[in-house]
Amino acid sequence: MNTTIHIIGSGFSSLSAACYLARDGYDVTIFEKNASIGGRARQLKKEGFTFDMGPTWYWMPDVFEKFFSDFNKSSSNYYSLEKLNPAYQVYFDKEDYITIEDCIEKIYKVFEKEEKGSSIQLKKFIDKAKENYDIAIKDLVYKPGISPLELVTAKTIYKLDQFFSTIKKDVQKSFNNNRLAQILEFPVLFLGAKPSDTPSFYSFMNYADFGLGTFHPKKGMFEVITSLKKLAIELGVTFKTQAPIEKIDVIDKCVRGIISNGKYYKCDILLSGADYHHTESLLDRKHRQYSETYWSNKTFAPSSLLFYVGFNKKLKNVSHHTLFFDVDFDTHANNIYNNPKWPDNPLFYASFPSITDSSFAPKDKEAATFLIPLAPGLEDTPELREVYFKKIITRLEHVTSQNINDSILFKESFCIKDFIKDYNSYKGNAYGMANTLLQTAFLRPKLKSKKVKNLYFTGQLTVPGPGVPPALISGKIVSELIQKHAPLKIPSSQTILQYTE
Ligand SMILES: Cc1cc2nc3c(=O)[nH]c(=O)nc-3n(C[C@H](O)[C@H](O)[C@H](O)COP(=O)(O)OP(=O)(O)OC[C@H]3O[C@@H](n4cnc5c(N)ncnc54)[C@H](O)[C@@H]3O)c2cc1C
Repeated sequence: MNTTIHIIGSGFSSLSAACYLARDGYDVTIFEKNASIGGRARQLKKEGFTFDMGPTWYWMPDVFEKFFSDFNKSSSNYYSLEKLNPAYQVYFDKEDYITIEDCIEKIYKVFEKEEKGSSIQLKKFIDKAKENYDIAIKDLVYKPGISPLELVTAKTIYKLDQFFSTIKKDVQKSFNNNRLAQILEFPVLFLGAKPSDTPSFYSFMNYADFGLGTFHPKKGMFEVITSLKKLAIELGVTFKTQAPIEKIDVIDKCVRGIISNGKYYKCDILLSGADYHHTESLLDRKHRQYSETYWSNKTFAPSSLLFYVGFNKKLKNVSHHTLFFDVDFDTHANNIYNNPKWPDNPLFYASFPSITDSSFAPKDKEAATFLIPLAPGLEDTPELREVYFKKIITRLEHVTSQNINDSILFKESFCIKDFIKDYNSYKGNAYGMANTLLQTAFLRPKLKSKKVKNLYFTGQLTVPGPGVPPALISGKIVSELIQKHAPLKIPSSQTILQYTE
């Protein structure tokens, strides 16, 4: 009989792990609490409009290709990709913006126009970022985060200083222009921490941005989720939705089964892609590895206030990805990390995918997603959401010189309370735990439980960290770890027993 692996959750990391494990002969079942799969990357459909509820930026296409090539496939077997041009647009004031195009030569020109001599600095910066990218992808991010020695290779030894300086310091050393500095600091926000707390080595995100570019999968990020599901089904994975796991049953330091909707499902190995803190709360206290103090001392990535809006006209002066940096970056960052509170003047990001992909909105209409990063754990009320919706719509109207308030057909919001309710997220974090120096690689929560022999974890709380490409990688490395440890010889059974406790 095959070794039975149950996986909690159906986000990118769980789907990735499911594919690898099923390919290698395990009997894999995914248990997802929600009605739809995809986790943070679910989709919302309303009145003919479509929204990616979470990720919208498709970066590091090589990681996606590497994933599909492990199954002798390519992304093009499942979805088509377009390189966006412009990649994105950044507003600094009324009708005052910088556009980042789709190739580095064009970006050099934009920098040079903004600050004389900056294109030379940018070339040096991106050359170093590319070196870091190559090292990160080849030597680091596919490591399981077990030992500090994983960070020490013939190439990284010369880069160790970059773990002790920060992106902010590096950028400020080379660029005087504050607008250019903000553009170079923006990519590390994906890692969930302030540029002043993110090691310089992570400048590889700048190479992902300027060197590799920004892509759009036709029909959006949820199409990638659908593709992973197709691949998983081809490989024999079983899916159960509306199947929340309520308890993990451990006997003699081994998971024997899980309970979902009151039923007991036996398994040989349990892998959780749900948020780490929540997964441990499904165990009796003595089997948990990390205390409440451990979690409360960690730097979490921000939560977000999101709005999904249908407009009854096409909008002007915006791009598929548009950033609104027309207020002070440091003050907002301070309200996320140092002095958690709702920011008076928030930075925000907006995505208008219907500009490039007609599947997102009916003809002559626009679909928009707005995102304001927030500290996790803040108060979240309908009144506060409304105040911030008005703030950003007013700002958008002002900086892009158009009236849009009268063209809103509907809006849906999603914030801290929804992250907790829908994903069991710790304090409502949107994308896991930040990649600061003390929360990198072997210093992150472990893929394999130290207390329960056949319990594993994957996803944005573990290695390598937040983001869709890291989630795909996390699924791969945990599946390798599972294969490395001899599967436990507990007889597996498909029998569903009633839980009687
Ligand atoms: C608003 C937002 C914007 C983002 N933007 C980007 C972007 O542009 N580009 C990018 O690369 N990344 C982005 N990210 C980050 C990226 O989406 C995540 O890092 C990634 O999707 C996380 O995948 P995961 O598998 O770790 O977790 P999740 O997607 O959270 O999956 C965990 C799953 O576990 C399920 N679950 C929880 N508890 C239980 C239970 N008890 N029983 C059963 N199931 C359970 C949840 O319902 C969920 O489906 C964004 C995230 C958010 C929230």
